[in-house]
Amino acid sequence: MLQPVLYNLNLAELEQLMRDWGQPPFRAKQIYRQLYVNLVCDPAAMSDLPGALRDHLIQTVQLDPLQLVQMQQADAGLTRKALFRLSDGALIETVLMIYADRATVCVSTQAGCAMGCVFCATGRLGLLRNLSSGEIIAQALWASRELRAWQARGPAPTPSQRMAVTSHTHEEDQWWSNEQVGFSERVTQQVSRVTNLVFMGMGEPFANYERWWEAVERLHDPQGFNLGARNMTVSTVGLVPGILRLAEAALPINLAISLHAPDDQLRSAMVPVNRRYPLADLLDATRAYTERTGRRVSFEYVLLQGHNDHPYQAMALAKLLRGQGVSKGPPLLCHVNLIPWNPVPGTPLGRSERMRVNEFQQILRDYGVACTIRVERGAAIAAACGQLAAHV
Ligand code: SAH
Ligand code: SF4
Repeated sequence: MLQPVLYNLNLAELEQLMRDWGQPPFRAKQIYRQLYVNLVCDPAAMSDLPGALRDHLIQTVQLDPLQLVQMQQADAGLTRKALFRLSDGALIETVLMIYADRATVCVSTQAGCAMGCVFCATGRLGLLRNLSSGEIIAQALWASRELRAWQARGPAPTPSQRMAVTSHTHEEDQWWSNEQVGFSERVTQQVSRVTNLVFMGMGEPFANYERWWEAVERLHDPQGFNLGARNMTVSTVGLVPGILRLAEAALPINLAISLHAPDDQLRSAMVPVNRRYPLADLLDATRAYTERTGRRVSFEYVLLQGHNDHPYQAMALAKLLRGQGVSKGPPLLCHVNLIPWNPVPGTPLGRSERMRVNEFQQILRDYGVACTIRVERGAAIAAACGQLAAHV
């Protein structure tokens, strides 16, 4: 018989399970608290439950759906990438990033991805399968436990650990990683919980919308994990139905859209799904989203040397976002996040030089488009954006 996975159940479903087992419904609340507030994932450690119920849980349910296969660290231990094996053998990755004032977990929503973006390591795997809500949630819980263990271990990184951040860094990457060293110097063991969650790991969240949304609701639940909706961000490759659906959703989570090119020809070459949802449709949907919600979206733009980083492309992008391109209207309520491309082995692509990135940013700003450059974490352990490929 298939074992129920507790992390797949919301409180009402857990109450039903207790009724089916002839237990009083308040036991469900106790278990729910143990899972999402105390972060306990071993029924034996749920000390407020009667022994018989604990034994029954041990025998009947599957608790943690993630089996840790490997842990890697970078940035003086402030970036941690976990490789997990799921119950059917599929592999996924999760990344925890600790900063001075916050801790962010980057969560996967699928094993692999069907979208095939040419610059992305996950895209090269193809899609294995969708994750269940429990498999998505368990990644956030792992990160919380990991953070707690890191705090319990004591002192902030030593100077020699900080040196390690630069020593594994290639010369050409120096310009951005110097900022990371600054980070580690300031970080203390003060961050007490996972404060931010980004659905930017492996997979396309909107291609697994139902289960992804269940995970969002459960992680948000004030009676449980209690993560603010504003502290969650979903990144999509640009699936229009998902954007329109999120516009109507009850929780105001943040939306990031992977744009990467200012015209359809180039975008279709980089992001094949653009043929299905071309720029005009994508930006019209984005406009509908910002009008409906009043919330600003952020556009992600990975910079590839000589490909999409030319000044004329920055100008075309600015025009597009100001409503003067294929989607006409007032300027979009948006912000652009430039992402220096992280190398993916076996691709002929290259990362834009710093000067090029700065120039691109300046052009957007000159045209009145808010724009920042993302400071990356974890490139040395292939944990940065788009490098997740789940290899043992
Ligand atoms: N499927 C979703 C979310 C996961 S990818 C999406 O595509 O938005 C998260 C972000 O990493 C996206 O903006 C994606 O375009 C970017 N990305 C992919 N490969 C990358 C790489 N090699 N270097 C930098 N960013 C990359
Ligand atoms: Fe999938 Fe996002 Fe990678 Fe594209 S960038 S292949 S959508 S994970």
